[in-house]
Amino acid sequence: MTMQKSMLAGHEDRTIQPTGPEVSPSSDFIRDIVAADLKSNKHGGRVVTRFPPEPNGHLHIGHAKSICLNFGIALENKGVCHLRFDDTNPTKEEVEYVESIKEDVHWLGFDWSDKLFYASDYFEQLYQYAVQLIKEGKAYVDGLSADEVREYRGTLTEPGKNSPYRNRLVEENLDLFIRMRAGAFEEGTHTLRAKIDMASPNVNMRDPVMYRILKAHHHRTGDTWCIYPMYDFTHCVSDAIEGITHSICTLEFEDHRPLYDWFLDELRTPCHPQQIEFARLNLTYTVMSKRKLLALVEGGDVHGWDDPRMPTIAGLRRRGVTPEAIRTFCERIGVAKRNSTVDIALLEHYIREDLNKRAQRVMAVLRPLKVVIDNYPEGQVEELDAINNPEDPGMGTRKVPFSRVLYLEQDDFREDPPKKFFRLAPGREVRLRYAYIIKCVGVVKDERTGEVVELHCTYDPETRSGGSAEGHKVKATLHWVSAAHSLSAEVRLYDSLFTTPDPSEAKDFASVLNPHSLETLTTCRVEPSLAGVPSGSRYQFERQGYFCVDPDSTPGALVFNRTVSLRDAWAKIEKAQTTS
Ligand code: ATP
Ligand code: MG
Repeated sequence: MTMQKSMLAGHEDRTIQPTGPEVSPSSDFIRDIVAADLKSNKHGGRVVTRFPPEPNGHLHIGHAKSICLNFGIALENKGVCHLRFDDTNPTKEEVEYVESIKEDVHWLGFDWSDKLFYASDYFEQLYQYAVQLIKEGKAYVDGLSADEVREYRGTLTEPGKNSPYRNRLVEENLDLFIRMRAGAFEEGTHTLRAKIDMASPNVNMRDPVMYRILKAHHHRTGDTWCIYPMYDFTHCVSDAIEGITHSICTLEFEDHRPLYDWFLDELRTPCHPQQIEFARLNLTYTVMSKRKLLALVEGGDVHGWDDPRMPTIAGLRRRGVTPEAIRTFCERIGVAKRNSTVDIALLEHYIREDLNKRAQRVMAVLRPLKVVIDNYPEGQVEELDAINNPEDPGMGTRKVPFSRVLYLEQDDFREDPPKKFFRLAPGREVRLRYAYIIKCVGVVKDERTGEVVELHCTYDPETRSGGSAEGHKVKATLHWVSAAHSLSAEVRLYDSLFTTPDPSEAKDFASVLNPHSLETLTTCRVEPSLAGVPSGSRYQFERQGYFCVDPDSTPGALVFNRTVSLRDAWAKIEKAQTTS
């Protein structure tokens, strides 16, 4: 028992121990770079990474990959990983998101200790750096409108054109920039741009906008600012200010790297981090962009950000997925330089593998069929021993009550059994898990509908599990609950949200949304040991899958979410691959 407790404590532990067996990721090109830098003492033996979310939505499993990578590399090298909110767009960002992101990173098992930062902390420093560039003739205030800026930018095949404001004198630029800050101009009338090269083959280098006017309230700086720095300028400077050694980001920023380096070189910052790009995580049957996830929430296609069908961390948590399963998944998929899409079945495989080790087994009947054991004495109740987890004897046993009236799963009975259906049928014997062998001797039907509403069975008292008649063989063992002792419960069965492996390709969500992604069963019966189970506890319902207590659950009205069924699609795929 004490062993079980300490395991649970370990499970809730926030920081992954770098020496733990699960944190042994095989190396990848980023870890190779870090190792080489350590060897050559490039950063004086330091490893400082950061995870830089924009607080404009909730984190998803793609972010988990980035979190595991950044915090993982720091942990493996006795370094630190900063959590930095990239809060430069006051119009889309909210405090609610900041709090949920912190909660999700902690829940995943990582900790930033005192290294919590906000890009908005650097607004004054960023402003001074911008002034420095203006003074050196490397930035100018442009008077073109947003549309004109776009028009002048050129295309991938044609060079851009210089803005008529490009050659303003330093004094004029300084004066205008100071007045921009003071609120003298309307939104959209002026921008500050870096003076680089409008003919550069890299569009990002064609005088990128550094600042824009936004008369918006910021969740941290309030109304102090009415000009806000753009991502490309903010990000590299924030990295430099914090002394980041390896700035790891996704591939779409590869073309921004020359700009990242340009700003830091021109500003001669004391530290020049190395930007390294890796392939983002894509999953089949899943959309991963915050914008699209927001559309699902706002369109009412799901019940909020933490809907268990969502690939958000909050959704996965509510569904019953463990942080360990997510970490293992992120480690095993590895880190690559080329984009690809991972089969969702692989994620489910690691979820199952993890829950198999930790989830207590219980019996629950999702679609109940009443069964009366005719020869079982009325009023008699036996407490039978049930094993909590065959994978972990330390989890012990519990008692389950057996009595004359039971519920079995409707699916486990066929009046007319097809070939290879070995479960219950008229005249046939099956074993009840932890209990007796029963034989079906009668079927009661609804007179009007013809539906089977009750079975009559007899039991053989000699066949109690663990007893001397264990040799009496039958072809199926079924789960069951005692009617009088079981508790009623609601069970929510989830299927993928989309009907197509690549929903992002679809014209609109409506055409690819799975109308059966949620099935709610309200007449389920679960064994009495589940009375009052707290929200978040996870179980294996024998023969059915892994389930987790939903936050909606109350002691009087239990609600379970199906995390994942027992069937392992990935194991099948793998088997097919190895045998072909
Ligand atoms: P989205 O595309 O979902 O809107 P984002 O990139 O705009 O995400 P940020 O908050 O800017 O979201 O992301 C924070 C960090 O997480 C960034 O370093 C980003 O590269 C990384 N990240 C985002 N999505 C993924 C993904 N699918 N796989 C791996 N890393 C990701
Ligand atoms: Mg982003």
